[in-house]
Amino acid sequence: MRYEIREIVDFVQRIQELDPLLHIENENIGDPIAKGWPVPPFLPDLIAQEMAKPGYKVFGYTHSRGNPETRKWICRYVKRFCPSFDLDSEDILMTSGLGAGISAMYHMLGKGKRVIQPSPSYPTHAFMEAFAAGEESISYRLDPNNGWQPDLQDLEQKIVNHPEIVGILLINPNNPTGAVYSKKTLESIVKIAEKYELMIISDEIYFRMIYNAHQHAQITEIAKSRVPLIVMRGLSKDVPWPGARCGWLEFHNQHLDKDFKVYCESIKKRILMEVCSVTLPQIVMPQIYDHPDFEDWMAHYLKSLEDNSNQITKILSSVKGLKVNRTNGAFYMLPIFEEGVLSDRQSLPIANEKVRVFVEEKVSSPDIPLDKRFVYYLAAATGVIVVPASGFFSSYDGFRLTTLNRDPKRRDEIYLGLAKAIETYLNSDKGQSSQQHKSEVEWSFD
Ligand code: PLP
Repeated sequence: MRYEIREIVDFVQRIQELDPLLHIENENIGDPIAKGWPVPPFLPDLIAQEMAKPGYKVFGYTHSRGNPETRKWICRYVKRFCPSFDLDSEDILMTSGLGAGISAMYHMLGKGKRVIQPSPSYPTHAFMEAFAAGEESISYRLDPNNGWQPDLQDLEQKIVNHPEIVGILLINPNNPTGAVYSKKTLESIVKIAEKYELMIISDEIYFRMIYNAHQHAQITEIAKSRVPLIVMRGLSKDVPWPGARCGWLEFHNQHLDKDFKVYCESIKKRILMEVCSVTLPQIVMPQIYDHPDFEDWMAHYLKSLEDNSNQITKILSSVKGLKVNRTNGAFYMLPIFEEGVLSDRQSLPIANEKVRVFVEEKVSSPDIPLDKRFVYYLAAATGVIVVPASGFFSSYDGFRLTTLNRDPKRRDEIYLGLAKAIETYLNSDKGQSSQQHKSEVEWSFD
């Protein structure tokens, strides 16, 4: 198992030790705070006010399923986006970040039961599911030639081939592709789930983060009284407050299937074993989302994601050999290489001798994926860090970048430089010596 999102961080640390002058641009990071985003200006005050309240409630444990007032508030909050939402607060389970919820959910699935994963996928889901099953993950294809929408034929075929599948995972808006699923797509997936009596798990941590005039189609509305459904949300990305470790699970349509009801109860019990989830953000959360300035904050944040997405798409689309899908949600993009354009003879000139030797040794491993090889050369030659698509259970070579840039001028410099580096890399096995292109290439972001 290789968790590339973390492995690339270790790789970067090592090349920085070898070449302290290498300027790093972290286009790999999915943490808005680490990318220089501030929190909403009113958030620190809300936290300070709660901490100063008599009784020191935020310092204590809270209810094992989550602060009761917050769970009641969630029911009212989600109803604003989704009018037919009719859960009771007992159907909401707070978790210490969605990471804890994901882990508990797969852990309690039961022996021999599988949840089919998208490919490419956010690796925490795919790995946790595979760990719990003790088997490799089973996946359905997301189609880069159809805006990364799920390939419904492939999904159905896999379900037929694997009777052990009891659920379908959706990530919408998607990490790592930035795709937003249409209502039609969701309707088709609900039909498949109905036909094969499966539950749907919908990770919607990015549900508020949609732009380019797209809208979030509500699986909750479409699946209502049709299929068992778990929806997952949290405040790591939109507030953004990833260090809060606060997310929640919604258990919908439990009346449809008694096994599903038992499963939901078992997840609640599993979280009970952790005593409770982090208290402070649960208490502050309703005040953040209900704050009169929150919508303006979101609008400003989304405008920036939209501009970044469109500009990066425009720049990278001009690169021959690369296929780029514009993103309409979340803050990730997954450009892929056209088939056959990558080889194990390509390289980029690396100025620092120690780094060059280190990278050449790394890429000499016979089982290194071609996109990881590219990512290593890119990092060492230019300082631009992205994550190989192969680290996201992708069958297409490519790389994931994040669109969280704060400075448009710098963003353009980075991506124009990246475009040039890709062209150089792809042409590097076409008769040029690396010494030759070393002198020709000037990275525009040096
Ligand atoms: N789900 C998806 C699709 C994510 O991209 C992430 C984090 O990147 C998470 C869940 C984990 O979120 P949390 O910070 O709440 O654990």
